Amino acid sequence: MAEPLLAVERLSKRYPVTGRRGALLHAVDDVSLEVAPGESLGLVGESGCGKSTLARLLARLIDPSEGRIVFEGQDLAALPAQRFARMPQRGAIQMVFQDPTDSLNPRYTARDTIREPCLLLGGLGRAAADQRVDEVAAQVGLPAALLSRFPHQLSGGQKARVGIARALAPRPKLLILDEPTAALDVSVQAVVLQLLDRLRRELGLATVFVSHDLNVVRLLTDRVAVMYLGKIAEMGPSASVFAHPAHPYTQALVSAIPGQGPRIRLDGEVQSPIDPPPQVCRFASRCAAVQERCRSVAPTLHAGGAGAHAAACHFARWTLGAAA
Ligand code: ADP
Ligand code: MG
Repeated sequence: MAEPLLAVERLSKRYPVTGRRGALLHAVDDVSLEVAPGESLGLVGESGCGKSTLARLLARLIDPSEGRIVFEGQDLAALPAQRFARMPQRGAIQMVFQDPTDSLNPRYTARDTIREPCLLLGGLGRAAADQRVDEVAAQVGLPAALLSRFPHQLSGGQKARVGIARALAPRPKLLILDEPTAALDVSVQAVVLQLLDRLRRELGLATVFVSHDLNVVRLLTDRVAVMYLGKIAEMGPSASVFAHPAHPYTQALVSAIPGQGPRIRLDGEVQSPIDPPPQVCRFASRCAAVQERCRSVAPTLHAGGAGAHAAACHFARWTLGAAA
């Protein structure tokens, strides 16, 4: 891989559990990954597995409990999120949120919303900031006539474009997208996804794309990381992971994509994210292939397939064609 734009090392985020003294919820647990310039990394997994927490950590919106977040060679993890918010690097890492209605200020026009980061982060004066607003509005296909409107006067798709324009305004190098189309009508989703894919190619943006829609991730990403209960269960080139899933959890996820043959159902209880036993595989309680070893030695992510395809399973199934 080229010199990474972003390198995350052993990143964890734990939350105290209210009413249970000393108990910790492990939202993100010991995650390491890299994103190359211009690369698109997908982040998938069931609801509650830690995708949004990891996305917010990468965008430095929340502080990690442990680990390093190295962006262009500088460790950002040690900086408090509030201090990072005022640094020039803030503009280089931008995030698009799941629900544009929640993330847009109802009292701001589209122009106000997009202009704000230009003034705060772009170091632009008012006139230059307005010019930048016009530029990004055109890039995302937002007609100039809509810029004076407030969020309630815009459709879902238009609000999504405002959110994307706001993120692009300070010329980021890394764009974090947390289920950017989940709140949109199905008919609008495809249009916005195509827009995002075009923008990322045209602008050479690196993206971290969080989604539970595996089909979309397969089409729009170069590499994918599959998360299960705060940890990465499998990671590798998207083509390889979707064609030859090595981890039993990924195999079940992929089997749920229509047209992928018989669906693998997951039985058993999901392990609690609160103080999970460190020596046990998180997926053991639902795994059809579970062995004695899985309950005494937690598996770590190890490479086995082609192109740095890796899985955290003692009994990962590496397809011969995919083996390194
Ligand atoms: P996903 O985006 O994959 O659905 P999240 O990152 O939102 O998952 O959540 C991961 C886990 O962390 C969940 O168990 C969730 O309840 C917990 N969690 C997320 N944010 C907080 C928070 N601010 N305080 C306490 N627990 C949280
Ligand atoms: Mg989420």
